[in-house]
Amino acid sequence: MKILVLNCGSSSLKYQLIDMETETVITKGTYERIGMNNSFITIKQDEEKIRIEHPVKNHEKALKFVFEDILMGEKYGKINSLSEIDAIGHRIVHGGEKFSKAAIVTDEVIENIREVIPLAPLHNPAALLGIEACKSVVPNMPMVVVFDTAFHQTMPKESYMYPLPYDFYEKYKVRKYGFHGTSHRYVSQRVADILGKDIKDLKIITCHLGQGASICAIKDGKSVNTSMGLTPLGGIGMCARSGDLDPSVVTYLMENLKISSKEINDILNKQSGVLGISGVSADFRDVEAAKDEGNERAILAINMHNRIVAEYIARYMVSLQGLDVIVFTAGIGENQIRIRKGICDELKFLGVEIDDEKNNTRGEEIEISTQNSKIKVFVIPTDEEIMIARDTMNLIKK
Ligand code: AMP
Repeated sequence: MKILVLNCGSSSLKYQLIDMETETVITKGTYERIGMNNSFITIKQDEEKIRIEHPVKNHEKALKFVFEDILMGEKYGKINSLSEIDAIGHRIVHGGEKFSKAAIVTDEVIENIREVIPLAPLHNPAALLGIEACKSVVPNMPMVVVFDTAFHQTMPKESYMYPLPYDFYEKYKVRKYGFHGTSHRYVSQRVADILGKDIKDLKIITCHLGQGASICAIKDGKSVNTSMGLTPLGGIGMCARSGDLDPSVVTYLMENLKISSKEINDILNKQSGVLGISGVSADFRDVEAAKDEGNERAILAINMHNRIVAEYIARYMVSLQGLDVIVFTAGIGENQIRIRKGICDELKFLGVEIDDEKNNTRGEEIEISTQNSKIKVFVIPTDEEIMIARDTMNLIKK
């Protein structure tokens, strides 16, 4: 069985064709700058990276090119006919309260995704473009949607409610949803498998630290708390996002700088976090380099980051009433050795102990805690695409 996984942004389309017997990627690629006159696609297959300039007007044209000229094309083709692909799995950022698991695409499901556009104005319309493009280019292909929010729908009400007038929840669905659910689900299941334990017997905290970052507390295999909120801006400070603030900061800045909600949103999403504090970059590699040169704001940005992650871990031990395993994943979690060390050092008082030699690794599945550590610590590279492909396969098999 072969599943095509699609992840659409407003001007991008990422795909992976996955062989489900071996759970391996046959080919993958990214179309960028869709709708602009310099669109191009980068394909990764057979250990080769190929870039093709091919301007396209919209997602439908991009998808048509991917199917006809890449997947089934003469030069780069990996399949002979469309019938070799069993289904398409779409990544959807926001499923609101309607979806606690993946769903087969129907008109009603599309309508439900449309209804939560106000909660994910950048992401959900792009995903719908991808679904519509598939309906037009491969009309008979079964499709499944997998939501970033779905895994967190198991949070208890005391975790997901904000202390606001209750009406705002009932009328406008203002609550914590949480994101990166597919990643938190993958790495928590994977760590249970590595430990040879039933996930229901583990209390796990997963730290998805990438451009966007969130922490998740997992008990009985279910999310019981997570740091992102109504939108992916909440929780810990990130590469360029502020994370949680005293809400008065927002109104104070708007009033005093006379800026609009769009402008403050831009500041909080694109000019804050580690970039805002350090003034150096949104990439931790650059900020670490500046730290090594003694740049005080870079040092502060990294110390603030490590402190808040450690504080969230300690806080979620309350949600879990204990803790067995911490998992680091995503770009920073998988690759930034000193960030992992910095966070774990803040947790030494809980008996967390890192083996520096084991921690000296990038992008590898490994336990990095010492034998004596009271809480195990792992690095697990995330794989959201395989989870989307598995969910898709399981649903269409039914
Ligand atoms: P993500 O959004 O998961 O792709 O994470 C992006 C962030 O991960 C970047 O800002 C980098 O700070 C970090 N990162 C990604 N790859 C590496 C690497 N090979 N070495 C060190 N840091 C990395």
